[in-house]
Amino acid sequence: MPQQAEPQGQRTGLFVNPAAARRAQFQAESGSQFASLALADGVDAALEVLGREPVDLLVIDLDRFDPELDLAGLGQLVAGRAGAPVFVLCPFSNARWLPALMARGPIDYAIAPLAPDAQNAALAAQLAAGPVRQPAPTPREAELQELALLRARVQAALGEGGDLAALSERICEALCTWPGVVHAALFYLQPGGDLQLQAQHGVHRQPNRELNLARVLGRGERLLQSPLRHAFPGLLAAAANTIALLDAPEKSGEPELTETLRAHGVEMVLGLPIPAGGPGGARGSLCLLFDGSRRFSHDALAALEGLAELVAVGLRLADMGRENEELLARLTHLSTTDALTGVANRRHGEALLEGEIKRARRYRLPLALIAFDIDRFKEVNDRYGHPVGDIALRTVAEAAQKLVRASDIVVRSGGEDFQVIAPHTSAIDGLKMAEKLRVAIASTLIPGCDQVTVSLGVAQLGDQESADSLTVRVNAALARAKRAGRNCVELAMQ
Ligand code: GH3
Ligand code: MG
Repeated sequence: MPQQAEPQGQRTGLFVNPAAARRAQFQAESGSQFASLALADGVDAALEVLGREPVDLLVIDLDRFDPELDLAGLGQLVAGRAGAPVFVLCPFSNARWLPALMARGPIDYAIAPLAPDAQNAALAAQLAAGPVRQPAPTPREAELQELALLRARVQAALGEGGDLAALSERICEALCTWPGVVHAALFYLQPGGDLQLQAQHGVHRQPNRELNLARVLGRGERLLQSPLRHAFPGLLAAAANTIALLDAPEKSGEPELTETLRAHGVEMVLGLPIPAGGPGGARGSLCLLFDGSRRFSHDALAALEGLAELVAVGLRLADMGRENEELLARLTHLSTTDALTGVANRRHGEALLEGEIKRARRYRLPLALIAFDIDRFKEVNDRYGHPVGDIALRTVAEAAQKLVRASDIVVRSGGEDFQVIAPHTSAIDGLKMAEKLRVAIASTLIPGCDQVTVSLGVAQLGDQESADSLTVRVNAALARAKRAGRNCVELAMQ
């Protein structure tokens, strides 16, 4: 007589979700499907229940779980079931959970939200099906599963962003999670440069006996010139744009290399070229060092090539990100800096003055504005020519920049007018500073002509005063200095 299936009512369940309200809802809607239903708010609580009592059906509701934070833990939960039923409720908007969890073990899933009836029907089907008796994977399937997992890890490493060094380091760490890999390295061809060992990572079985490829390969940043470029798969892959597979160190024909690899427990080395975006050779290579020799299937080799392509795209994106940042920095510099003198231009100066006024108000600190203008500059141009006039402007700006504090801001506010925005500075201190500027500029030699002098106005920001009013007052003080005979300082009226 066929054995009667255990009635569903006798089955036990465990429902995992971080939200208390959702757990209560599931209990109310579907608790009756189980003889007993345990609830857990996360991986730790779930592991505790699973360690205490057998659970026929594990239900993971992914709503409110965060793939960044929770994937590793939930993956562990799935892997720990070893084929016992796992039913995943996956939000339709975040189905990337599914391949990631499937890589950890057999799961069945339904896309949420589910109406209570549909949910109960799905649970009944799960409970009726019983344990998933998965046949043990064939070695080939196991290899591909491992590679799928490796790809997911490399992808996660690339997803974290960062500069080339950080990215390469994380890729090598991810490669080392592939069973059998004891060391991994990334070689990268710098644009217009030579091949470099960008990063390496080892699974250190013998402390203090780490393999250091930089030492083994020598030549620092010029690895395409290395004598081992035809023998070491990492270099060979990058130099010849080919997969290189050294399945026994002695086949390299380099006794010293063979000895070093063997001394570090390396029996096989694989070099995978990182393809360049366009025509031309490889951009570099991934190098994996294994503790045993193995033979790869066609699918595995294709998967490895795909992995190198994934890395290539990730590194290209990182390159583009860096180029964008550099471009943005250059643009920002161009749009805020005066091309002739290198100090802040008028527009940027106005924005900086507004900012400093706000800061001075918030912290109740004094703020001084100094305006200065080269005396009889027209005569300099007329007598020595415009190019010498330009040199004079640059020299005056340099002299001012050298004299002020790091927190002071020199601005070219017009043709031969400058300002100094001086935070934390009262009228008295502003006057002293202006006088120092006057003396310093008057004693600065201008290449091509003798010296120039400047006239200066000084104003301290009033309690309620706007940037416009402060500027008007300081310019009026400067005009008075001109009228007073030039090469002098005048304090603005309140
Ligand atoms: P004052 O003492 O009253 O300031 O007399 P000034 O001759 O300096 O004043 P004015 O306003 O008559 O002349 C300013 C000169 O500055 C005229 C202009 O050609 C020159 N100038 C403005 N911008 C530049 C520049 O970028 N390069 C050069 N070489 N000269 C410039
Ligand atoms: Mg002038």
